[in-house]
Amino acid sequence: MTSRVQVIQPTFAPSRLPDNGKRFYIWTIGCQMNEADSSRVAAMLMEAGYRATDSEATADIVILNSCVVRQAAEDKVAGRLNALIREKRQRPDMSLVLTGCMVTNQQEKLAQRFPHVDLFFDPSDFDTFKAFVPELSDLEDDLETLPHYYVDTATDARVSAYVPIIYGCNFLCSYCIVPYRRGKERSRPMAEIVSEVEHLVQRGVRDVTLLGQTVNAWGHDLDGDAGLADLLRAVDGVEGLERLRFLTSHPKYMGDDILEAMADLPTACEHLNLPVQAGNNDVLKRMRRTYTVDLWVDRIQKARELMPGLTVATDIIVGFPGETDEQFDDTLTVLREAELDKVHVAMYSPRPGTLSARWEDDVPADVKHARHTAVEQQQHDISERLNQKRLGESVEVLFDSFNKGRWGGRSRGNTLVHVEDSRPLLGKMADIRITETTPWYVMGSVVGDPR
Ligand code: SAH
Ligand code: SF4
Repeated sequence: MTSRVQVIQPTFAPSRLPDNGKRFYIWTIGCQMNEADSSRVAAMLMEAGYRATDSEATADIVILNSCVVRQAAEDKVAGRLNALIREKRQRPDMSLVLTGCMVTNQQEKLAQRFPHVDLFFDPSDFDTFKAFVPELSDLEDDLETLPHYYVDTATDARVSAYVPIIYGCNFLCSYCIVPYRRGKERSRPMAEIVSEVEHLVQRGVRDVTLLGQTVNAWGHDLDGDAGLADLLRAVDGVEGLERLRFLTSHPKYMGDDILEAMADLPTACEHLNLPVQAGNNDVLKRMRRTYTVDLWVDRIQKARELMPGLTVATDIIVGFPGETDEQFDDTLTVLREAELDKVHVAMYSPRPGTLSARWEDDVPADVKHARHTAVEQQQHDISERLNQKRLGESVEVLFDSFNKGRWGGRSRGNTLVHVEDSRPLLGKMADIRITETTPWYVMGSVVGDPR
């Protein structure tokens, strides 16, 4: 998962909504679950008559959605909060709200450290937020049916949405703070998820990503034996949906049934996000990941057998306590042999309260940096080679951005594609013939008519 910063707006047309003259601003950092929560908050506020604005200075309510998965993210949130002290002093009527993983179980401490914040609410605890905003209490009934929206305002294509299907995580990876901040796994019922997707598709969404920290644990805590494979089949059946993805999967739960469903279903995209974290079994054991490198390799192999042309992404942590040069080399080797399309690499950051934070953070910063660079360089060469092989191929692209005279979109395999074309392509799907490649994206031209 990535650390991006975005302003979120709902997918529906603001013109259909009331305008109460008030403005909101949302700043988001962290995983896609945060982006989904921010979109939900934006959707609620817009339904109540608020409109989005692009700066804190013009907002009546400012919401910061925080992340604590690494120290760097936490520092950015603190910086942003401190930068708002002056704004709050000048405009005491402005409401300042903090949510996200920084808040869980920390409200008292945070209230002392950031006394200028008006409300702290736990991630996905929308009831507390509703109670705080007077206009939201009148909307009680509608809000229950409001889906989670996601759209990047820079693009405003309104065709892609995130749908959380399971909250929390039952694993206890030794480095990870998520279970402490997001609690135990709670799956949403299948019927609720399907009706939310139907609702989104009616509003113009073509591409849905199902979300969870361990998305493939969906259903384990529900009555009956339905699992992610069954849910994928149900969501695939939603009339009008064109693309279906899910993240993030845990290797241990990546059963054949899920891979077979992916291979079978027309909407399921040929893309898999399967974090390995390390390519050495001793390190994996100390990370408490509960699987071996072989299991991960086997799952990727099986997925590729079932879906030729599948693209694969993974997450890696470098510089975990005790990670030797040899153990790190194993990670490089595994990644070289697996030839993935994308590798998200992070330097280990001790998180207070987790098991590994009690162990010495003994890999020096310069070694962590060197390992980070080594993974990135190796991946740069792999991606360059893989993309070069795609030259001349045709891919289906859903466009969701326009920047510097170029349309941007994603293939079903999640490859970033840029196109220059005089027709309006935002929100449109088109077949693209690849004419140029780089390690990070490909360029191409539209074949036939956009749809
Ligand atoms: N549930 C997902 C990932 C959740 S956290 C999984 O099991 O893979 C998102 C990513 O942040 C992780 O994949 C990991 O690579 C990174 N991460 C989590 N904790 C970290 C820490 N303490 N230091 C560095 N990176 C971390
Ligand atoms: Fe964190 Fe591990 Fe749960 Fe992923 S599976 S959220 S890394 S504890």
